Amino acid sequence: MTTLFIADLHLDDSRPQITRLFEDYLASDEARSADALYILGDLVEAWIGDDDDAELPTRIANATRALRDSGVPVYFMVGNRDFLLGEDFARRAGFTLLEDGTVHELYGRPTLLMHGDVLCTDDVAYQAVRKQVRTPEWKAQVLAMPLPARRAFAAKAREDSKAHTGSTMETIMDVNAGAVASAMGNAGVTRLVHGHTHRPAIHRFSLDGQPAERIVLGDWYEHGSVLRITPEGAELRGLSLS
Ligand code: MN
Repeated sequence: MTTLFIADLHLDDSRPQITRLFEDYLASDEARSADALYILGDLVEAWIGDDDDAELPTRIANATRALRDSGVPVYFMVGNRDFLLGEDFARRAGFTLLEDGTVHELYGRPTLLMHGDVLCTDDVAYQAVRKQVRTPEWKAQVLAMPLPARRAFAAKAREDSKAHTGSTMETIMDVNAGAVASAMGNAGVTRLVHGHTHRPAIHRFSLDGQPAERIVLGDWYEHGSVLRITPEGAELRGLSLS
């Protein structure tokens, strides 16, 4: 009885060994015997639309579909890099899309699932951009562009993001404790799982007098990172490149 969580893989043609690690992990005994796999956003470095004809999206869809076909439900929540991913690709990839902020009960314990970027409320500049690009109008406008134009647009957005990340204080880019408490309070949970900040940890604290935990998933830049939740508890584990 194990449920698996991954996020922030940032799959990209520039890191082929990580794409292979992802494929190998989804085909592993651990994944095939899991109760479910949750992918909590930023699976890819950039997503330009479900009609992208590049090789990477096909490899991802093949890997997740094979896992689903083996009997393991696969859930996907978009992150800030892949928020243009939609129902078309979800069908191809055999996974179920989840809204940011979904609560799923895991072995009797309600667990709030988020990508994590909405919790970084101290980064006012980022939140303003996020609000703008998540509107249906903005998304429709971008998706109407030809694929090569969208590729160029995504490359530019990545450069802008790097510049912002490089010039913004570390603490501003972490979650805000008040935002965490209110998200968990509103959802009525004592456990939260999220990614985005690339600071893997299990934080234990008190929420309205109750023991609570916030589990942060790790990124896949240098190696893999997986959270395993069982009826007994939660464990973060690294996956090394073979
Ligand atoms: Mn992110």
